Formats: sequence, structure tokens, C-alpha cells
Amino acid sequence: MNIVNGKTKVLGLIGDPIEHTGSPAIHNLLASKLGDDAIYVPFRVRSKRLEEAVEGAYALGIEGLNVTVPHKVEVMQYVTELDDAALEIGAVNTLARIRGGYKGYNTDFSGFMRELDSLDIQVNGRDVIVLGAGGAAKAVIYTLNRLGARQIYILNRSIEKAEEIFGDQPGIKIMGFDGWKSIPSDKYICIQCTSVGLSPEDEACVIEDEGFYDLIESAVDLIYKPKETAFMKKVAAHGGKAYNGLRMLVFQAASSYEFFMKKEVPEEIVEELYHELDS
Ligand code: NDP
Repeated sequence: MNIVNGKTKVLGLIGDPIEHTGSPAIHNLLASKLGDDAIYVPFRVRSKRLEEAVEGAYALGIEGLNVTVPHKVEVMQYVTELDDAALEIGAVNTLARIRGGYKGYNTDFSGFMRELDSLDIQVNGRDVIVLGAGGAAKAVIYTLNRLGARQIYILNRSIEKAEEIFGDQPGIKIMGFDGWKSIPSDKYICIQCTSVGLSPEDEACVIEDEGFYDLIESAVDLIYKPKETAFMKKVAAHGGKAYNGLRMLVFQAASSYEFFMKKEVPEEIVEELYHELDS
């Protein structure tokens, strides 16, 4: 890690809770690999102090912030500019300093897009099953639409909530988790966007029914802790290919870092970072 001095650029993360975040490790490693004089610090920010936190960060000269649960939507009202994709997705996870404030971006979307690309999962013209309808699912569904998915089946615990967010979008069908039985028998790409199965609940799986997994050809679980989730194990046991969300995490961090530092992160550094974190 760099020794902090008067010129060190300060980056950070705002969220609540933030105790278990892996972002500082990734960003500080990136800064050190790129030889940048920068440090990344997590800040726990309560919802009622969010506006003050963003203003205060700007006043303190903080170069950039990641934004995590529960502030990704709320923070949109405190940015000076908003990237088009972030506006369409309806969530911001990156604030990059500009004149007068911060510009808000969503790098979950670009991170997920890069993960699909690196895994050679072709979405164009395909039907896709998405499990979950929370913040991450918003970025995933935006990406799938941009990549030309034909039909998206969204399965969520709260059908009403999913309908509120995605109900008016063409090419989307919304159902509960047992709705999979009404999906035509075929092979699908499936993206697991719920928090079910996240460590320490390693054995939990959002759909237990084995029949569901016969529908899946390739799948990404956005969860990366544990490395192989119960969902991924079931996909693999039924002959599908399953990947975790670590690539997305690394790619979204690299994109955020590029916005913060206004410089490109070479592809080989991103790869190196991924392999170090995966080991
Ligand atoms: P949200 O809290 O916004 O959404 C959580 C989703 O999980 C909702 O669809 C929710 O359903 C569902 N869910 C939660 N608990 C249960 C349960 N017991 N049974 C069924 N469904 C449940 O979280 P995010 O969308 O931000 O994150 C989701 C996951 O994605 C997390 O595990 C997070 O770590 C991971 N993630 C990974 C990223 C990466 O870079 N790899 C980036 C962002 C997130 P309901 O709507 O009914 O409440």
C-alpha cells in the first residue's frame, strides 16, 4: 500500500453496512499495480446522512466513491450529472468527481457485460431466465436487453415488486419461483441475482427443485462468496456450465477506477487481479 501524503488521491465506498466489503482490497491492489498515489477507504453512511456525506466528500476533495446497499437509488438525487445508462437502470454505484460535484455511473452493468463477453456467453436472440429483481437484477436486465435477449423470464419472491420495476417492459415475463414449470422446455441462459446462497448461507439455493436445472445450459451466479454456490453446483450436476460473479466484481471495480482516476486500466492488469482474487 502507498504511504499517504498531501497529494494522495482519496477514493472510497459509501454504504451501510460496509464491514464485509471486498472493494478496498481490490481498489488498493489496483492502485498499487498501476503505481498510482491513491487510497480507497470504506465509509459507513446512514441513509439520513447520505446527502451530507456526498457534499462532504466533495468538500474534502474525495476523487471518487463507490455506492452500495442501501444508497444506490437514493444517491441519484445528489449527483451533478448522471450517465445515460445509470439513468435508464435507475441505480448508481459509482460517483466520479467533476466540476461542482460528482457524475453518477452504473458499472455493475458494464462489469456484467464484460463478464458475459469474457465467458463467451452470447445473449443476442436468446431467451434468458433471471432469478431476482433487486438492484443487481436491474443492471443485469438492462444489459440483457442491450445485448438483444429475445425473452426474459424474471422469477422473484415478491412478484409485485418485480412488476413495479419491470412490468411495463416488452419481452419480459414475471413470475414467482415456482413459475419455472410454465417456461417452455428448452435450454436457457440463467442469471442468479438473488442474495440467497451468499456466505455463510452456503447451502441455500433459491430454487431447490431439481427439475428446474434441466432448463439451464449456462449460468452466472452474481454471488462470488462462496466460490461455488449451491446454485452453481446444481447447474453443473445437470450438465450446465456455471460461473460465479467474481469476474463481474473485478470488471465493475476496474470500470469504477477508470472513472475515478480518468485513466484506462489495461486488460492484462484486470486479468491479473482476477486471478489473484480467485486463488
Ligand atoms: P437486493 O437486496 O437489491 O436484492 C436482493 C434480491 O434477492 C431480491 O430479488 C430479493 O427478493 C431476493 N431475495 C433476498 N432474500 C431472499 C430469500 N430469502 N428468498 C428469495 N429471494 C430472496 O440485492 P442486490 O440486487 O444488490 O444483490 C443481490 C446479490 O448480487 C447479492 O448477493 C450481491 O452480493 C450480488 N452482487 C454481486 C455483484 C458482483 O459484482 N458480482 C454486484 C452486485 C450484487 P425480493 O424482491 O422478494 O425481496
